[in-house]
Amino acid sequence: MIVTIDGPAASGKSTTARAVALALGFDYLDTGALYRCLTLAALEAGVPPEAGDALDALLQGLTIKYRYHKGRIFLRLGGRDVSEAIRGVEVTAGASAYSALPAVREHMVAFQRQYARGRDLVAEGRDMGSVVFPDAELKIFLVADPTERARRRARDFRGQGRAVDAGTVQAELERRDALDSGRDHSPLIRPAGAVEIDNSRMTIDEQVAAVMRLAAERRPARRVSPEELLWPVTDDAAGVARAERMRAGYRVTRAFLRGVMKLVFNTRYHHEERGRVPGPLLVASNHIGYLDPPAAGSAVHRELTFVAKRELFRLAPFAALIRYYNAVPIERGAFDRACFDTLRRRLQAGGAVFFFPEGTRKPVGWLGRAKFGLGLMAHESGAPVLPVYLRGTDRPLRAVLRRSRIDVYLGRPLHIAPLLDRGVRGRELYDLFGEGVMAEIARLQDEAGGIRGSGAA
Ligand code: C5P
Repeated sequence: MIVTIDGPAASGKSTTARAVALALGFDYLDTGALYRCLTLAALEAGVPPEAGDALDALLQGLTIKYRYHKGRIFLRLGGRDVSEAIRGVEVTAGASAYSALPAVREHMVAFQRQYARGRDLVAEGRDMGSVVFPDAELKIFLVADPTERARRRARDFRGQGRAVDAGTVQAELERRDALDSGRDHSPLIRPAGAVEIDNSRMTIDEQVAAVMRLAAERRPARRVSPEELLWPVTDDAAGVARAERMRAGYRVTRAFLRGVMKLVFNTRYHHEERGRVPGPLLVASNHIGYLDPPAAGSAVHRELTFVAKRELFRLAPFAALIRYYNAVPIERGAFDRACFDTLRRRLQAGGAVFFFPEGTRKPVGWLGRAKFGLGLMAHESGAPVLPVYLRGTDRPLRAVLRRSRIDVYLGRPLHIAPLLDRGVRGRELYDLFGEGVMAEIARLQDEAGGIRGSGAA
């Protein structure tokens, strides 16, 4: 899902977009920061906006790396961290002139669409809803009185210890708005289909809540339900017993961990019988805290293979230890084919693999989208997936102190075959299957009574 937030300078776009992205567990794209990056590069290279060929050359050689992590953005320009430098006065004043150039816009729009591929995203800028993501599920146009905007901006500056005069700030904002709205190419306009929010007299919490309500309404309807994907469980007791065989060392450690989870971390397991499946099994859970692997791992009566980032294997004794517990190194960032093949072979040999379908940890409250790896693995191995919903692992201390507890809910095993029968193939197959698995996890979340539930010990 894509949410776009457009509006004039200092209308509260960044504050709103960041808060909404965090609450939804979405990625956040600050496109103003990208135009600022280009502006910084041009100013440093002494290339003015009217330079033509020199500017084209600059654009060709431009290497911008944009990364969003837990509410913060990190920008690198040719390997150098420029996250701070792009907020300078000269860059701010110069950005509108460079942003008006068609060559610059073409370059940036391509970058932004590429970034959005396969992500749930809140994108902020001037032309997000009108040009870059015209099909976004939700478009917001944020406005506020010029005097109110100037007052807020001046307050920000003072907070940074910079002496400013509100009149000057307002004049500068109006100059930028005039340039951004008056340009021929992708001017600042209210995009077709956008919801206009005037936040002149709203608090930040009110405007975030307004956007969140709209986002909940516009969330795309589910295209597949878990009921369509139910794996036909047979009562093959011998098969289950075979699948549940563990090496003695693993069995002892698992029992110990389970005791720790129950006694120290106040953990309850729900629907454990759903994990008693013969043959290969992919265990897929939501990811909110460091206790997720032991919480989910101790709920399933199987010897699990799991992935751990490659850095953890640097120290030989530690590497040997985690390898004993079936850890497989994974290279993060890109798709790691070698790791994937190892997991697939273990499944094909009848083993069980533990997996976070969302990839990285997500803030509590909004389940992310499954990455395509889950569907690919389910397809290539033929293994059913056991969806697991974890609650409370983000706040282990509260559980230790008995102020809350940890809950582990096992879902109904799902398989990909019904989608294959429907003729779904390729990327669509993996996406749809991932949606089905996440929908089952969401169902467990509802069953648990929401993200905090009773929470009581
Ligand atoms: O939002 P921010 O103030 O960081 O944007 C800096 C400048 O980048 C704006 O004044 C505008 O000229 C330009 N911009 C744009 N299109 C966008 C985002 C920013 O032209 N989507």
